[in-house]
Amino acid sequence: MSYVLQGAGREHIVLEQARALEQWRSARWDTFRINSPLAFSRLMGQRDGLPDRQRGLSLRTMLGLWDDCIAERAFPIHEQSKVVAVEQAPDARFRVHVEREAGPHVYLARNVIAAPGNYQRPRIPACAGQIGPQIEQRRVGTYTNPSALREGSVLVVGGGQTGVQLSEELAQAGRRVYLATSMVKGTPRSHRGEDIMFWLDRTGLLATPKEELIDPGERQDRLPIVGSDHPISHHSLARMGVTLLGTLRGMSANGELALFDNNLDENMRFAQTGYDELIGQIEEWIARQDDAVRLSFAAPVAEPEWRPHPPLSALAPPAELNLRQAGIHTVIWATGWRADLSWLLIDDVVRALDTHGLPQACDTPVDGFFWLGFPWLRTRTSGNGAGFHLDAPYIASRLR
Ligand SMILES: Cc1cc2nc3c(=O)[nH]c(=O)nc-3n(C[C@H](O)[C@H](O)[C@H](O)COP(=O)(O)OP(=O)(O)OC[C@H]3O[C@@H](n4cnc5c(N)ncnc54)[C@H](O)[C@@H]3O)c2cc1C
Repeated sequence: MSYVLQGAGREHIVLEQARALEQWRSARWDTFRINSPLAFSRLMGQRDGLPDRQRGLSLRTMLGLWDDCIAERAFPIHEQSKVVAVEQAPDARFRVHVEREAGPHVYLARNVIAAPGNYQRPRIPACAGQIGPQIEQRRVGTYTNPSALREGSVLVVGGGQTGVQLSEELAQAGRRVYLATSMVKGTPRSHRGEDIMFWLDRTGLLATPKEELIDPGERQDRLPIVGSDHPISHHSLARMGVTLLGTLRGMSANGELALFDNNLDENMRFAQTGYDELIGQIEEWIARQDDAVRLSFAAPVAEPEWRPHPPLSALAPPAELNLRQAGIHTVIWATGWRADLSWLLIDDVVRALDTHGLPQACDTPVDGFFWLGFPWLRTRTSGNGAGFHLDAPYIASRLR
């Protein structure tokens, strides 16, 4: 946003409660790699000289590229400046209350663009409180690597992107892993020899406008079960020895038993259907192209990770697991995040949030107040690095 505002010659500042890119600096794990090829991971204005197709970049490398861009462009970022309240002032401006080490400060602004991220507070089920101190609990942000965990087996809760990537890492490190799955779509990492992001882009699926969203429940980024540079599936995890379970329903009152829904089969079918549907959509798009375009693509080769692992279909996962008997000394919560909008004191903007308390569009009922960086604000890609370059210029065009 700052890049676009610089280009438009608009006076602005960026208020950041910690350091620029704080989420990336402190809420990932040691081996984390960026999910999308560089073409979809750059900041606006980033000049790195690397190929668009470069993928699987380590977080350290990616942060270096982002930091270089921030320094080169000299974005006016005020770090260690936490916004604690935004309210409307009588003169149609916004009063932005900021806390800093030096003391509180109030800004008056004609426009406010709120981009606090969708990942402020980890979403951890209440049953975590029933687990005794003999079991270590970690989450994204406190998990670093397998050797930093207590010896023994690990229960990973949450079968989205984070849960499957950590399960794979732990199994590769020789840990016995139990994964409580959830209902998330599978995604190919590549298709016809190209990273899936290029296909999502080329077919128009990446930037699908919100108005064309068929399933209004689908407010999630489109890479739920996938690795950063290779595919991951329930089948590939099972082949590595990961024990797949239904969704964690709760803990027994004494905290000894983890209780699971009887839905592993359903979760697996949901993942597979999502995977198949996406390939089907891409193939339909290819079929509509003329011969020259169609023949320019490599032949489709199924990803071996999604080849069914036969014992899984006959699997009856346990409905409960005695953590002590299973040798589990660590539970990792990969159960998602929620936004923290507690600073928002403008009733009309609050009323326009959806039932999950999330912004629904860049525009709000209040002139001069905008949202950026949440899923499906304008398109499928509004909530991740591939989408900000679409929404930021739009917001700039709507400023007072
Ligand atoms: C585990 C994980 C992996 C991901 N991997 C990818 C990926 O590979 N590629 C991708 O494109 N996306 C990925 N995402 C999504 C990614 O987080 C977003 O694409 C991107 O970080 C969103 O940028 P943002 O600036 O909108 O939000 P954030 O990066 O969350 O930045 C928001 C900033 O606002 C600050 N802030 C919040 N509240 C206040 C306040 N009150 N006052 C001042 N400052 C405040 C925060 O400190 C933070 O620095 C991943 C998310 C997670 C959780």
